[in-house]
Amino acid sequence: MKVIKFGGTSVGTVQSLHNVKAIIDECQQQVIVVVSALGGVTNQLIQMTELAKRHDASYETLLNALKQRHADVIAGVVPEERQQECLGVVNTFIDEGLASFYAMLYANEELAPDFVERVSDAIVSHGEIMSSAIVASMIDGAVPHFSPNFIKTMDTATERILDAETTERLIGEEFDGRTERVHVTQGFIAADVETGVKTNLGRGGSDFTAALIAAALNAECLEIWTDVDGFMTADPRTDPTAEVIPVMTYEQAQRMCDAGAKVIYAPTIAPVAVKHIPVWVKNTFNPTAPGTVIKG
Ligand code: ADP
Ligand code: ASP
Ligand code: MG
Repeated sequence: MKVIKFGGTSVGTVQSLHNVKAIIDECQQQVIVVVSALGGVTNQLIQMTELAKRHDASYETLLNALKQRHADVIAGVVPEERQQECLGVVNTFIDEGLASFYAMLYANEELAPDFVERVSDAIVSHGEIMSSAIVASMIDGAVPHFSPNFIKTMDTATERILDAETTERLIGEEFDGRTERVHVTQGFIAADVETGVKTNLGRGGSDFTAALIAAALNAECLEIWTDVDGFMTADPRTDPTAEVIPVMTYEQAQRMCDAGAKVIYAPTIAPVAVKHIPVWVKNTFNPTAPGTVIKG
């Protein structure tokens, strides 16, 4: 079994989602697919939250555009017999979920900061909830899973951290013994271990979700599918001389992630390094490129 994670650009358009489907179809063995929100959606959800909090009704225009974008993607990638159902599910998340959260922020002057934070976390979780519904509907026989059921955070006096022990146990309970070939779940989003309130693993956290699942299930490998040919000597957006590094150790990857290489979210490396699970960094837009392997 392997865990394959697709980032925002990989699930961002009809064309890129066709690539995602081809990559999943090509895997011979069982796969757990972890997805980010459609590219740019997390930023838009946060932007709309800020507008609604400032009582600026222009969030509604952005929300309509978000709804249209998801509808267009569904029309382009989901097989016809499942399109209406998928569209209904996603529209419900937008019309009943997001729209009422934003309306509440928009209409109220004095909400407690704690409450606003909880609402904001609930809002931002919708990006991955909607993208995963689309990817699951796109693949025949795919089993949908809800990651807040098994990725758990807890609050310390100073910060929110992963409840690693509970998460490992719950991932086992969720997936052990399953025989279906394709499973689909959300990256990034989580729930508080005590209250069940929606939380998340921090921006870029979908990589971490995938690593936690791979580690807990002793996956054969973890694949991070993104928009560059592999882990490179520098960010190719700012350094045109950057080259793909074919093989790296976990230590090298960790050092570069800590120094800001956002191709992989830094907390991702440790759980897979402990279990000696190889991590491949591959390009959804150039799947035959060899990519990078990170191993011991
Ligand atoms: P995803 O949405 O797939 O998670 P990210 O935007 O988080 O993708 O990460 C991929 C981006 O990371 C690349 O487009 C690239 O600009 C940037 N990046 C920064 N440092 C590196 C690096 N050392 N190697 C490759 N890409 C890098
Ligand atoms: N969608 C989230 C973000 O934009 C998580 C991720 O993409 O990994 O930060
Ligand atoms: Mg990322």
